[in-house]
Amino acid sequence: MRSAPWQQDLQQIRRLRLFQNVAASSLQQLLQEFCACRLDSSEILLSPFNRNQHLYLLLEGELKVYLGSLDNQPVSTLRPGECAGEISFIDNDRPSAYVVATQPSLVLRLHRESLLKLSDQSPELMQNLLELLCDRVRKGNRIILDSEQNANVDILTGCFNRRWLEHVFERESTRCAFNGQPLSMLMLDVDHFKAYNDQHGHLAGDYALCLVAHTLRNQLRPKDSMVRYGGEEFVILLPELDAAEARTIGERLRQSLEQVGSFYSPVGILPGVTISIGLGQMQSRDGLESLIARADAALYKAKEQGRNQLFG
Ligand code: GH3
Ligand code: MG
Ligand code: MG
Repeated sequence: MRSAPWQQDLQQIRRLRLFQNVAASSLQQLLQEFCACRLDSSEILLSPFNRNQHLYLLLEGELKVYLGSLDNQPVSTLRPGECAGEISFIDNDRPSAYVVATQPSLVLRLHRESLLKLSDQSPELMQNLLELLCDRVRKGNRIILDSEQNANVDILTGCFNRRWLEHVFERESTRCAFNGQPLSMLMLDVDHFKAYNDQHGHLAGDYALCLVAHTLRNQLRPKDSMVRYGGEEFVILLPELDAAEARTIGERLRQSLEQVGSFYSPVGILPGVTISIGLGQMQSRDGLESLIARADAALYKAKEQGRNQLFG
């Protein structure tokens, strides 16, 4: 970071978000305290390893914010008018994130003491600072929510993953048992999928898995969960349905895939696939593992009896 010449410009300062509605007379006192600095592209402005006593106001260029490691995806991009370093600036602790220039950038640096002096006289400044912090908190909450959701979802098919199954089984089995209602599970496996991959390529196989997920998921109720359990195996949890009702649903799902003779994919028209299904209804002492074992044993029978059918 190098010092750069900067014409003290009150109007430019007033356009910055942090100083909106702050009286010109208050800002005038601050003008001499700003120090302009140039950053090269890729230069690290803030790091959790270095204590920070300054607030940085971005005038030109672009900064990106990284949590945890610079190898992660950036969580936000700062553009001219925004500021960086406000969290460590406020609590006088280490920065909570890395802030890196992604273009040659110009920032105004302000020591915390200078701004704290002004904060006594300007409630508008405090208001702006609080709004900025609220923004950061909201953004942080969204990141937590997104990463929670991503951690529960299979990237290829958009189905839930096993982690979610454990969570949702806990919830639904307790709820169904408490209300004296049944709960059923379907375990599905794509038939002859190794041969499908061998014949059409792995990418085609991936699209076929998406077809399965999409076709089946569209027929389920919101309270059902479709989980990609393994490579070409899916589990569907059906709360409040007994074995007979789940059999009807499962049979309908199986037929709906059987009817897809071919489908469009980015690698061209591909043949459809069939599935075999094992059905298990939850018994009073069942945990997730024993219910899966029952559905899996039924799936084995469905395969043994010729595939493209439901057993259980
Ligand atoms: P069966 O009818 O007995 O189930 O035969 P199968 O060939 O489907 O069973 P097998 O377990 O021998 O093969 C499963 C295949 O699924 C092998 C593996 O390459 C493929 N597979 C697993 N996950 C994926 C995936 O994410 N994408 C693709 N394209 N293929 C996958
Ligand atoms: Mg399999
Ligand atoms: Mg298979």
